[in-house]
Amino acid sequence: MAASNSFLSTPLLKPSVSHFAKPLVSIPIFCLYKNMKKKNMHAKASAVAADSSETAILQNDSIETKTTNLNEKTEKLVLPTNDSSGKLLRIRHTCAHVMAMAVQKLYPDAKVTIGPWIDNGFYYDFDIEPLTDKDLKRIKKEMDRIIARNLPLIREEVSRDEAQRRIMAINEPYKMEILESIKEDPITIYHIALGFSEPFLYGSISLPLLYFSPPSYVAPFVIDTKGFGKYLLDFVVSKGEIIVEMNMGRERWGKKIRGSRCNEWWDLCAGPHVETTGNIDRKAVELESVAGAYWRGDEKKPMLQRIYGTAWEDEEQLKAYLHFKEEAKRRDHRRLGQDLDLFSIQEEAGGGLVFWHPKGAIVRNIIEDSWKKIHIERGYDLLYTPHVARADLWKISGHLDFYRENMYDQMNIEEELYQLRPMNCPYHILVYKRKLNSYRDFPIRVAELGTVYRYELSGSLHGLFRVRGFTQDDAHIFCLEDQIKDEIRGVLDLTEEMLLQFGFHKYEVNLSTRPEKAVGGDDIWEKATSALRDALDDKGWSYELDEGGGAFYGPKIDLKIEDALGRKWQCSTIQAISKLKIVEYAHRLELLGCLYHLSPFAHPKLPVVDFNLPQRFDMTYVDSNSEKKRPIMIHRAVLGSLERFFGVLIEHYVGDFPLWLSPIQARVLPVTDIQLEYCNEVRNKLKANSIRAEVCHGERLPKLIRNAEKQKIPLMAVVGPKEVEMQTVTVRSRFGGELGTMMLDDFISRIKSATENRTSF
Ligand SMILES: [Zn+2]
Ligand SMILES: [Zn+2]
Repeated sequence: MAASNSFLSTPLLKPSVSHFAKPLVSIPIFCLYKNMKKKNMHAKASAVAADSSETAILQNDSIETKTTNLNEKTEKLVLPTNDSSGKLLRIRHTCAHVMAMAVQKLYPDAKVTIGPWIDNGFYYDFDIEPLTDKDLKRIKKEMDRIIARNLPLIREEVSRDEAQRRIMAINEPYKMEILESIKEDPITIYHIALGFSEPFLYGSISLPLLYFSPPSYVAPFVIDTKGFGKYLLDFVVSKGEIIVEMNMGRERWGKKIRGSRCNEWWDLCAGPHVETTGNIDRKAVELESVAGAYWRGDEKKPMLQRIYGTAWEDEEQLKAYLHFKEEAKRRDHRRLGQDLDLFSIQEEAGGGLVFWHPKGAIVRNIIEDSWKKIHIERGYDLLYTPHVARADLWKISGHLDFYRENMYDQMNIEEELYQLRPMNCPYHILVYKRKLNSYRDFPIRVAELGTVYRYELSGSLHGLFRVRGFTQDDAHIFCLEDQIKDEIRGVLDLTEEMLLQFGFHKYEVNLSTRPEKAVGGDDIWEKATSALRDALDDKGWSYELDEGGGAFYGPKIDLKIEDALGRKWQCSTIQAISKLKIVEYAHRLELLGCLYHLSPFAHPKLPVVDFNLPQRFDMTYVDSNSEKKRPIMIHRAVLGSLERFFGVLIEHYVGDFPLWLSPIQARVLPVTDIQLEYCNEVRNKLKANSIRAEVCHGERLPKLIRNAEKQKIPLMAVVGPKEVEMQTVTVRSRFGGELGTMMLDDFISRIKSATENRTSF
């Protein structure tokens, strides 16, 4: 025993022992809620899966703990967004101007262009020599000075001619272009800082220039008249003149300053901004990066320097954001996908087309197997349908009229036009229509891991999250009106079962009801909506009601999952197409409904429905009176697409897949190559037991162990002379540390049981 363990106590190995004891992932201290418009939304809308769930497993437990911690902290600090905080938006916009002012102060030849607020901050484009990180530091320092001076931002309205004159005077060609693109009059200008070009008399009090001009100008609205007391001043800018009003108790006196060249720095802008630069917390602002960007995004136009900054209400928020950013970077599925050899997108093949490498493919295979098993258990029939179809089919379905810009060009096959499919629904309808269906056949549930191709602009492609070819976990349910509720309930159960496996048990659920413009009578909308509502109540999930937020063809339920970083991902959508009476449009509407199958991929604009189009697919069933009726069709996807879901999983687990899902479950490592033969035997035996295992050798053991850690392999089976002799392995678990020596058969049965029960080893 001593011999077999001796290599484990070498000093070299000690540090890695403590590494094993580290928690699964480090937890960020807050959660970023995008688009959080309603207060308490996350509190109200998250439905927590029943804790008593039989499927609760160790891996889930650890995630649950983390999520709980996360939420405790979240309550302390929820980062505001531009939508949720008007103040934040003003801060960010003002920061862009302050940065531009600072840049022009430091680099007088720099020409300004545009500088909007964006998610998490702002940017500004300058026509200037390339900048370095060192320059950013200088610029930030200058910004801090401007902030410290607490300068006012003063809005001024001028005529177009006046704006032109002023822009010419300061020679800002890009501003002139921007002015030309502004259609509304009057033109608004924002000044930062007021300094008066002439002293002026204020009643009997002379207020010399000194007090208004930087750097003595500190508090913008209070003026110390040195011996005459402090007075509150209001600055009103109108028609190129500044009126200074002094507020002396009940009386107010005004004074115009003519022809003032009063501004220190100004910009064309419509606002809004904070009142004074002092409202910005300089410690809550950071300049993040600088990159080249073409003017107007046009490569034929000059290359500009774009400086990105982030800005928050206070320092704490900035720190939380930086932490989040770092954590998101650590989890980035594109980097992890490369480091762990999971997938790639190959230049030679084209953008947005995913190559699943063996290690990614095996994870996908496990997900698919589990998906198929659950669907078969829950009464779905599996389908496989073609990836292309005659263009005629897409004409009948309405895709060519409404979805063409997302479809690839047609191909000519023996004088007939074919097209790649952007959706699976028409195929499932064709399968439905292969025979005459009776009301007794309902519900009919068909499911397919259906690969579709959609045109996305190359600039919008993003790892696995936005691709051009992807596989939806698609399903359609055909049923009777009074079966909707039970079917939806079944979908909710299935969704929960699927998502719980991966530790997703916090959902944000939305039920969207009839919009103003909708097809179908009130009665059918009411029936379908209450069926969805009843199903949710039945399930015990709380949800946010999005009144009027449904699609025009039917109500829908959206579900977002929350990952370990507290980010929300949309995966599942369930829609009941509620049209019985407007049958001729039913299919068409249903198709449009499929735009929502994957909302992140959805085209933002829904096509306008033409009610006069001829009947398309004529779907019917025979009811109990032998009359032909239209069935209800429900569209649903649980994971969304396998590509996107895999990306979410990689980021959720930071590449540390749980044992049951890990591409390689155990790596067998010889102390020296003398044990290689036995290692191969061990691997073969593991493989024969459906355990994903491999042997690595050819390096010193500490290196082999470090490599296995880097590859995030859950179990290592280390083999020295003693292990060979005793037919044992010495086991190290990535998160459980040293587990000692065990018989090979015990090792195998423990892995098998952990895999089956989805627990940790
Ligand atoms: Zn502005
Ligand atoms: Zn569909």
